[in-house]
Amino acid sequence: MIDLRSDTVTQPTPEMRAAMANAIVGDDVLGDDPTVQQLEAYVANLLGKEAAVYMPSGTMTNQVALRLHTEPGDEVILESEAHIYYYEAGGPAALSGVMCRLIPGDHGIFSATQLQQTLRPADVHFPVTKLVCLENTHNRGGGRIFPLAEIKAIQQVCRQHNLQLHLDGARFWNACIATGISEADYAKPFDTLSVCFSKGLGAPVGSALVGSATHMQRARRFRKMLGGGMRQAGIIAAGALYALQHQRQRLQDDHANAKRLALGLQQIDGILIDPADVQTNIVVFHTAEIPAPDLAAHLLEQGVAVFAVGSHSIRAVTNLMVNTAQIDQALEIIATAMASLKKTSPSTQPSASVNYG
Ligand SMILES: *Cc1c(COP(=O)(O)O)cnc(C)c1O
Repeated sequence: MIDLRSDTVTQPTPEMRAAMANAIVGDDVLGDDPTVQQLEAYVANLLGKEAAVYMPSGTMTNQVALRLHTEPGDEVILESEAHIYYYEAGGPAALSGVMCRLIPGDHGIFSATQLQQTLRPADVHFPVTKLVCLENTHNRGGGRIFPLAEIKAIQQVCRQHNLQLHLDGARFWNACIATGISEADYAKPFDTLSVCFSKGLGAPVGSALVGSATHMQRARRFRKMLGGGMRQAGIIAAGALYALQHQRQRLQDDHANAKRLALGLQQIDGILIDPADVQTNIVVFHTAEIPAPDLAAHLLEQGVAVFAVGSHSIRAVTNLMVNTAQIDQALEIIATAMASLKKTSPSTQPSASVNYG
């Protein structure tokens, strides 16, 4: 199976499994798991922040960040297709009691001017705005990179209005590798960042919330409250640490494979894609006529797994489990599928999409 559904399908390599098997562990809730501590120190240092807290998922790091920066009734500003708003089960309302105010972006990217225009003066009628969240790279934006210059301009607006700035950086590593901007430089404008180890990096479990020591001390309490305190977590933290140290640079292979896939797709009759839209490891392409669910179902039978993300849109995510030869193989299978599906009847399957981590 050539699995292009998501970069979450990546499995631990034999070397990573060895690092996990040999990890020295303790009770992390009691604060004495040396491997978790090593991971947290490593990631905080890499991002140029004081501290980090390891958590089971990116959803938890994001939701803890919201809880950290807000009180019930406050307003959080997000891009209209932000993962925090779109895919986290209503967490902002349920866990923090906040209002989400949305700014429509271009592939998930909005400007400092748009933020400026969204903000309202202090007035008893309005909710208190506390937090702005960005996403880099942007999941529903097709892996779009948030330009650092725009982030800096947004941070200026936040500073003027006393707003905190959080990054949903589930694919932060991809943005750093693709641009050559250091993790610390890209992280600098943010008060807190959520970064993921179990997507492109290939670790089995976990994300970290990163920020000031004071923020992380409170984050630890909210992690416990949500049930995210884990005991001998060094076993999984060892996988995350191994991924950070050994599998970060290779993300450039995923990006090259995504570009190769996009350029190949462009040559196939009935497929619409602008390869310039592919900046990292996510490839979104469109079908002119054939319903996307039909194509996805057909491809699955032929050994290529992708997600239909709209009635005529498909998402493919390159990852550690798929090499360049398999990308070429996938392209051949897609070309054959397109040719054979041209003659068949319209779709009877639902066109809506479900979840895309
Ligand atoms: C996957 C993802 C998350 C959530 O991560 P989980 O570990 O699956 O909870 C958050 N934000 C973005 C942008 C993601 O792509």
